[in-house]
Amino acid sequence: MTKIVQIRCPKCNTPIFSKTVDSVFLCESCGTIHVRDSGTPEDVGFQAGKFARPGDGERVYLPVWVTGITFNIDDIKSEGGGLSNLFGLLSGQSRQGAITLYIPAYELEPMAFKEAAMRMTANPPKIEPDRLQPGVARQPVTLTSDQLQSIAEFLFVTGVAEKPGTLQRLDYRLSVTSKTILYLPYYKKGDSYQPGY
Ligand SMILES: [Zn+2]
Repeated sequence: MTKIVQIRCPKCNTPIFSKTVDSVFLCESCGTIHVRDSGTPEDVGFQAGKFARPGDGERVYLPVWVTGITFNIDDIKSEGGGLSNLFGLLSGQSRQGAITLYIPAYELEPMAFKEAAMRMTANPPKIEPDRLQPGVARQPVTLTSDQLQSIAEFLFVTGVAEKPGTLQRLDYRLSVTSKTILYLPYYKKGDSYQPGY
């Protein structure tokens, strides 16, 4: 027998029902989104982008983790030398700093995931903030918040290794300092997605 656990909003205690399996829970009553990846409920903020231009197909939201990180590079050695500028976000030879990673939270093939993360991080989506539109499906968040640290490290190392030839040695420290969900508006037609922002 399946044990059913009633999920309640940690802020206003309203029961949350969901027809889809999603690692984030939206309270229809107060609009809070929370995760339970560590076992205890944790509020995460979210923002939705407006359907600012017309499109063809069904309207859907694709979730992205907007992830703030700080990093320190303690040692780096690469053939050819020099540091990459980390997605164009850093000037020259910065060995420490804070950047924002845009990490797709919906199901994607590994190559498409990496490509989308690198592209959005280098060039953040320009959205007009809006309320989540009723009746517009949210794609489930399948990349859980407790995976963000290791994914952020993967993207960071990928970004550092991108330019300066062969990376031979990289010692670094990286902390995730913030995480929120951004729901990007898209038009879905068949298997193709077209931005609505
Ligand atoms: Zn609530």
